[in-house]
Amino acid sequence: MNDAANKANAEQRPMFDHVALIGLGLIGSSLAHVMRRENLAGHIAGATRSEPTLKRAGELGLCDSYHLDAAEAVKGADLVFLNVPVGAMGPVAERIAGALKPGAILTDVGSVKGSVIRDVSPHVPEGVHFIPGHPIAGTEQSGPDAGFAELFENRWCILTPLENTDEGALERLIAFWEATGAHVDTMAAEHHDLVLGITSHLPHLIAYNIVATAADLEDVTESEVIKYSAGGFRDFTRLAASDPVMWRDVFLNNREAVLELLGRFMEDLSALQRAIRWGEGEKLYELFKRSRRIRREIIEAGQDTPAPGFGRR
Ligand code: NAP
Repeated sequence: MNDAANKANAEQRPMFDHVALIGLGLIGSSLAHVMRRENLAGHIAGATRSEPTLKRAGELGLCDSYHLDAAEAVKGADLVFLNVPVGAMGPVAERIAGALKPGAILTDVGSVKGSVIRDVSPHVPEGVHFIPGHPIAGTEQSGPDAGFAELFENRWCILTPLENTDEGALERLIAFWEATGAHVDTMAAEHHDLVLGITSHLPHLIAYNIVATAADLEDVTESEVIKYSAGGFRDFTRLAASDPVMWRDVFLNNREAVLELLGRFMEDLSALQRAIRWGEGEKLYELFKRSRRIRREIIEAGQDTPAPGFGRR
């Protein structure tokens, strides 16, 4: 075959023949959408735990086959995604282990990597390539209606290969993520958990906490908090509206990194408290100036919009 024929062939053939999505919430359904758009799978098999979610996924036409048993969904799959809360990864891996095809790539999208490796690895059969992953892309929405094909566009996906990860399988998974529009980085799981601890887990914890503090205030009514939320509070409420099961599991499973970062955070907060108490304006000004620079760098890196109010109309 000449180059042009090769190219035409490559354009028609999906990247993977058979992909299984275990979990069809925000991330699973977004994967389904982008796989269709980019012709990444010849057949998409979807599995959820509950019947209503599976039924809704069917109404949305996310997959080609639908299963309440995850083991059924992974039969014959070349690529298997675990898109369930971090605490459910181990039991799901145990359930599907016997049905995985030799040579298949098994990956996940969990927000914590150390615990997923700990919980999933013992169940991975010989000949199956387990490559943990985490797309740094999300919204506060969950469920099969929340997904959209552009979710991963220009976002980073971190893969945390294991010591014996097969290079060919890793390259195929990287190609998959790049085809979704994502950029791919690889790093050690422990480092991932520390980095995401500060960029994602701690901010969510602070958001959950500030919303709880506001709700519990005696001298400011809840209706005042809501009415005047545009002062900054509402930006925390977006984070604090995220799925409670997912975030419970994140904190239970990234305990060490979060506790370490929380210690640092509380020290820094005490320094701020002290600066306010003693009227140290210069200290406050310097710190706030530095934060502004970081915001600018996030925008320059294409990870947010410079539009006022995050582009809200
Ligand atoms: P989601 O929208 O809440 O969907 C979760 C899916 O997992 C649903 O299909 C649900 O099925 C299934 N599920 C829940 N508990 C389960 C259990 N115990 N056993 C088997 N299946 C179960 O969640 P998501 O936002 O897509 O998150 C999925 C994964 O992606 C999580 O590990 C999360 O850490 C990670 N992640 C999330 C984000 C984000 O911003 N949301 C970003 C990056 C990575 P039923 O509806 O039938 O229960």
